[in-house]
Amino acid sequence: MPAIETTALTKRYGENVIAVDDLDLTVEEGEVFGFLGPNGAGKSTTINLLLDFVRPTEGSATVLGYDVQREPKAIRSRIGVLPEGATLYDRLTGREHLEWVIDNKGSDDDPAALLERVGLEPAAAARSAGGYSKGMAQRLGFAMALVGDPDLLILDEPSSGLDPKGMQELREIITAEADRGTTVFFSSHILGEVEAVCDRVGIMNDGRLVATGTLDALRENLDLAASISLTV
Ligand code: ATP
Repeated sequence: MPAIETTALTKRYGENVIAVDDLDLTVEEGEVFGFLGPNGAGKSTTINLLLDFVRPTEGSATVLGYDVQREPKAIRSRIGVLPEGATLYDRLTGREHLEWVIDNKGSDDDPAALLERVGLEPAAAARSAGGYSKGMAQRLGFAMALVGDPDLLILDEPSSGLDPKGMQELREIITAEADRGTTVFFSSHILGEVEAVCDRVGIMNDGRLVATGTLDALRENLDLAASISLTV
């Protein structure tokens, strides 16, 4: 059973905008899949469709074997999401953020273990999130996404705003989670930052999936990446 499967998935806004256009996409269980494309390509809309945050104009999607529109609740508890530009609350500590998610999900996860999994030191977790660097905020967001031990992690532009060191740390966290058997689906507009961790990638442009495959196959097609202003 694929972790994600979409069939002719389409989202239109008004008459003129086709944010996602006839998308047929399969992500296998246990894969690390990089979802690439320049700004406005339709990556976030696709993620929102997979999470049932927006409704498709046409087509359908299954996630972890469940139809997204018919059984959204069955899916929600099995997915961990790191949204783009996740909001943190200045007055709460990192640990308090995490505890809030644990309580909210009715999980019995140990916050300390989750913080360790993402490399956030206890002393840092005890500080208010208002003073967090982008890298620390991403780690905390990642820990929050891991609550409940999801089968599928969906990360929307997780590397945006990270410096090279932060990106390397992010790659390490992604690889560690993949090694536990978790399927990872993450979007990016920078090809170079995903290549070390992805089993396969898909490239979106103008709402359409224009290529899928391994990075080796894709490398032969770098003209394509250049032609749609993907950062290589
Ligand atoms: P980014 O990296 O900038 O987030 P993206 O690849 O995630 O880009 P989307 O945010 O999915 O792209 O947007 C795809 C297209 O759909 C864009 O042209 C965008 O302007 C349009 N769009 C997205 N959401 C809406 C909306 N709610 N109403 C109208 N148009 C929208």
